[in-house]
Amino acid sequence: MTNATTPYTSFDLIKTSTIDSLGVEVAEYKHRKTGARHIHLASEKKENVFLVGLPTMPKESSGVAHILEHTVLCGSEKYPVRDPFFMMMRRSLSTFMNAFTSSDWTAYPFATENKKDFQNLLSVYIDAVFFSRLDPLDFAQEGHRLEFSEGENPESPLEIKGVVYNEMKGAMSSPVSQLYQRLKRHLFSTTTYHFNSGGEPDVIPSLSYDALMAFYKQHYHPTNALFCTFGDIPAAEHQKNFEDQCLNRFEEGMHVSAPVEVRRFAPASIAEAYAASDSEDEKQCHFVLGWHIEEPNDIADELGMDLLNTQLTGSSASPLRKAIETAGFGSPSPLTGYMGVGRESMFGAGFQGCSADDKEAMQALILKTLEDIAEQGFEQDDIDAGLFQLELHQKQITGSRQPYGLELALDAMSAHFYKRPVTDALDIGPGIELLKERLKDPQYLPNLLRKNIINNQHRVDLLLYPDAELTQKQEAHEKATMAALKAKLSEDEKQELVKQAKALSERQAAEDDPNILPKLELTDIPKDMTFVSPSKKSNPALKNKRAVTAFDTKTNGISYLQVTTKLPKLSQEELLDINLMHSFWTEVGAQDKDYLHMQQAQFGQTGYLTAGINVRSGADDTNELSAFSIMRANTLDARFDQMNELLHQQFMSPRFDEISRIKELYLLKRQRFLQSITQSGHSYAMNAANACFHSYGSLEMSLSGLEFIKRLNADKIDDDSFFEAKAQAYSKLHQKIITQPQHFCLVGDDAELDAWIQKLESKWNEPVSTDTRLATVDLSQQQHQAWLTSTQINFCAMSIPAVDRHHPDTAALNLLATIMNNEFLHTALREKGGAYGGGARANSHCKTFDFYSYRDPRLGQTFNDFERAMEWVSNASFNKKQLEEATLSLMSDIDKPGSPSGEAFNEFYNLLHGRSLEERIQHRQAILDVTLEDLERVSRTYFKDVQGIKAAVTNKSKYETEKLEGFEIHTI
Ligand SMILES: [Zn+2]
Repeated sequence: MTNATTPYTSFDLIKTSTIDSLGVEVAEYKHRKTGARHIHLASEKKENVFLVGLPTMPKESSGVAHILEHTVLCGSEKYPVRDPFFMMMRRSLSTFMNAFTSSDWTAYPFATENKKDFQNLLSVYIDAVFFSRLDPLDFAQEGHRLEFSEGENPESPLEIKGVVYNEMKGAMSSPVSQLYQRLKRHLFSTTTYHFNSGGEPDVIPSLSYDALMAFYKQHYHPTNALFCTFGDIPAAEHQKNFEDQCLNRFEEGMHVSAPVEVRRFAPASIAEAYAASDSEDEKQCHFVLGWHIEEPNDIADELGMDLLNTQLTGSSASPLRKAIETAGFGSPSPLTGYMGVGRESMFGAGFQGCSADDKEAMQALILKTLEDIAEQGFEQDDIDAGLFQLELHQKQITGSRQPYGLELALDAMSAHFYKRPVTDALDIGPGIELLKERLKDPQYLPNLLRKNIINNQHRVDLLLYPDAELTQKQEAHEKATMAALKAKLSEDEKQELVKQAKALSERQAAEDDPNILPKLELTDIPKDMTFVSPSKKSNPALKNKRAVTAFDTKTNGISYLQVTTKLPKLSQEELLDINLMHSFWTEVGAQDKDYLHMQQAQFGQTGYLTAGINVRSGADDTNELSAFSIMRANTLDARFDQMNELLHQQFMSPRFDEISRIKELYLLKRQRFLQSITQSGHSYAMNAANACFHSYGSLEMSLSGLEFIKRLNADKIDDDSFFEAKAQAYSKLHQKIITQPQHFCLVGDDAELDAWIQKLESKWNEPVSTDTRLATVDLSQQQHQAWLTSTQINFCAMSIPAVDRHHPDTAALNLLATIMNNEFLHTALREKGGAYGGGARANSHCKTFDFYSYRDPRLGQTFNDFERAMEWVSNASFNKKQLEEATLSLMSDIDKPGSPSGEAFNEFYNLLHGRSLEERIQHRQAILDVTLEDLERVSRTYFKDVQGIKAAVTNKSKYETEKLEGFEIHTI
């Protein structure tokens, strides 16, 4: 026990341990009176993380846990304001603020590097969770409510509104989410995993306010809670805060814990419809076999299942995945593999883009393959490759997606909730040693495979077939139900609904006193950029047009290597091909080796090996681009040579002549892109709206935007000549790229860098000659667009012309976007409009100012709101508080730390794209220097009397009902 882990008087220390590879001391505590738990991960990192987690186990798909998570954040005893969570985002320098509802727990995490900010947020979070106000109007706003479409007009149609209701309509528009929920539903019949904890749109309206309150009382109690912290604040200081702000007001309560699923001994077979845009194409089915996996005995068996998973599905060369990929029924199902479902777990194997007629054959193939695998056993090389992957994963210091400390805290939390040793979950080293002992028995893995999968009859085969009318049927059903409900409403009941709509809109319009909440001041913002530049070594002395930039970075024994070339000048046809060429580049064979061989080698020697394109707007010229082709890999330091060799082979000599492989990959990619529309519709819509303003937007449209997906979906792929032509096109593109001068980026330990640079020099010595670059791309037409696809929910975007990053108004435009979000769009789009999200942003790449909405029930009215926002801002007078809040939000974004390797690569990209450190420091300073006068002047310049370009992602019937004018229609 150290200073960092000594407990406060009301807590008992249960145990501590040190994990060197993570640089943390783990300490577990129990609060004496209530039994509340605390896990502290003491670290030297100054980014402190907090979370409070509660097991939440709904017994229905009404979304009770999820709606509660939203409503809890709408005001509490000490902070009785409507929206403390969103208000705090503007008053803090947090590096992370969110709340999650998983299948069996709810967690409220935040992170910040500022100590005062930590105390502020802690106080707001604890009060929200344990002393929540749960106002019925907030439940109506966030969960669901019946309302007339024109709120106070009882003659207008009756509708269901609510943020979570729309959020889940969006989430459940994805066939993969439907597949996952249904597989769970049929595999787990006795536990909470049977239900959709997020909520099924057709069940959500059945949730009552009383049921929400009862769920809150049962689950949100300290006895049921786990506090988890990470960072350099001592445990006792946290515990004193928990005690003073919450625990001293509670006695011991009840524990909620997950029962174990009751085993079944006979397989089940299910077929159900899902909503698709086109049921003409019969190859649109999903078919998956799912097994419920019994809880492992210990950490070694748990890791044994992870290892078995790598053996079956880790790469395209792994036998189960290989059998699925090459069988010709369709692409592998995204649910292929071993996955946790809360405390339980399942294994899936199957196909997507397949035909219902092949069901028996697909099932037979999967079962036969598994039996053959068990029969033949596993090669030692493959087992070593799997163990290498587990070790690499353990060593990786992440942090670019969410704070590293938070990832550890979430791991610790789930281990605690699932009654597994916390240190096992954080440090797999000892577990791996134990597993290696068991692996001495060559039958260990085959036996695990037989017991958990082959002989396991707790299995479901699930077929989802497309129904193009399902969305319309559901909408018609909803309309009819609403009409019937309306017809039955008495005059009094109608007036009740009008009264509620009025009360809600008054509440949304009311100004809360922001001084109730704690906040940071502008003086709390670090004077200098907190970004720490990794120490950089440049060695321009590489032979013939090659350069290298190396970063000395503490990456815990993992090295990263990237080769980068400028994207050459390309035709429109080539632009549409180049994305797929990059994603296939590392998935095909190389030199004289086929793809199976190369996939196996990559899996055995690298953490990943991927290629892609990195684009930003050019440094100076008005319409210029700065675009690069990249290929990157990582591995353990000791395997640098192997990584260098593989990267070189794959970069120089990919086998674009493997036609059947290209076909497989093509079908898989096409599915993924189509599926991504309902998940990222707002990004696609924004891109469609801004593509006519700058090359950057037009390029994105061709590379990976809606134009690209439309083309992909329309491709006639019936015979191999299509793929042969593609393969030739990819080879040509490849030749163009590899003859460009190369720039390497190396990230790793200082002691190794010089030797690695030598190795690059000797390996990469092919002649390079030309140096062309993709300077601009033709702009898209200025035209409103409606993109129609299979979605239950809409995404809207609008762009107006603005300026690039060098322009003196950029800083003020960035602040104005945040102010519009805070003061206008959040209320208009989310609180009133019922969209899950939406806002505005200054987009200096495209020289535009963009508006967007996410998972939005509305279309035309949202476009009106975008226009009203412009009118509002062009007449508004701003105050100091608005400016301060916007400044704090932008600063926490700019100063947000990443992972060690992520920060090094960021620095490299800044260098490539000509973004100097000085320029970034100036940009940051320019934001701090913006005055109220600047805001006013800029708001008058850009938003008055402007017509935006609009784009929507929606479905056909919604588009037709709305009667939008002047839109060009595209169908995907
Ligand atoms: Zn939500």
